[in-house]
Amino acid sequence: MTRFEPQKEENNQSVKRNLLGLTLLQLQELCAGMHFPRFTAKQICDWLYRKRVDSIDSMTNLSLAQRAALGAEARIGREVPQRCQVSRDGTKKYLFDPGVEAVYIPEDERATLCVSCQVGCRMGCRFCVTGQQGFHGHLTAGDILNQLFAIPEFESLTNVVFMGMGEPMDNLDAVLAACAVLTSDWGLGWSPKRITVSTVGLVPQMRRFIEECQCHLAVSLHNPVPAERLAMMPVQKAYPLADVLALLRQYDWSGQRRLSFEYTMFHNENDDLGHAARLVEALRGLDCRVNLIRFHESPEAPYRTSSPAAINAFRDYLNRHGVVCTVRASRGQDIDAACGLLAGRRQG
Ligand code: SF4
Repeated sequence: MTRFEPQKEENNQSVKRNLLGLTLLQLQELCAGMHFPRFTAKQICDWLYRKRVDSIDSMTNLSLAQRAALGAEARIGREVPQRCQVSRDGTKKYLFDPGVEAVYIPEDERATLCVSCQVGCRMGCRFCVTGQQGFHGHLTAGDILNQLFAIPEFESLTNVVFMGMGEPMDNLDAVLAACAVLTSDWGLGWSPKRITVSTVGLVPQMRRFIEECQCHLAVSLHNPVPAERLAMMPVQKAYPLADVLALLRQYDWSGQRRLSFEYTMFHNENDDLGHAARLVEALRGLDCRVNLIRFHESPEAPYRTSSPAAINAFRDYLNRHGVVCTVRASRGQDIDAACGLLAGRRQG
């Protein structure tokens, strides 16, 4: 019931607040409004995020009266996945109602979950199937966290990346709240180094994210030539890459928090050494790394995949010129779980 918060419960038609995704502060406000002791908020956090219960009745250190009062006002928005597709390479794509996808990517010593933050997206990147489907709604912090909590592999997760459907900076309150739950001592207590949030470069929201959150940042760059970037990414008009880079230069990226740039390789569009040279120039002086991504062709996108030789030559050029660059392994292509393909076949 993700897009239509607040949700109406069928049994009594009253609007119930989703506890999942609320921060400690928000729970303290809720408890104050219900005349509960202040420490009850901490207890609820513990049940929600450490024990991950799916019913208020399971919160057994709350009194029966408190549980009844809380249950009348609130719910725990846990939803099981509707479907799971398994790739030949072990990647799994989970589909949640109403069309939210998360991708579980096991590797040798890591297990990453790629989560969605919106249903669809309004950024309209021309190479992205999600972007071509338009925008259908924001997810709440609870909807985002549910993608982690509801999968059987939760305990094995080492990393979370906000690189699924949607633009995280376009739903920043929910993304920041989800990151706070993941990294706070009242939440899961993860290191922020385990979380990467991506963006196409919404400058004001990026500034707020950098100021308020210690998680890694990944900027979708894709083309260093302004006119060409505009042709593939409409966001370039409102927030030119030069403004994005100027903002990033105001911060220190040499510490724990990592800055990376995502660069999808399109045949004859952005994959020659001239573009590599422009990219090196654009990133000069920034402590960062570049991830090259193989483009996955789809009928919806008017681009073709770069050859492995072009991708390797591009990578080698960047590395030779002082920009750390790797080619991101491609996973889950056979189940449309790879970059840019999410929701591509959902409506078909
Ligand atoms: Fe949205 Fe990301 Fe797709 Fe661009 S690439 S349309 S920001 S989901």
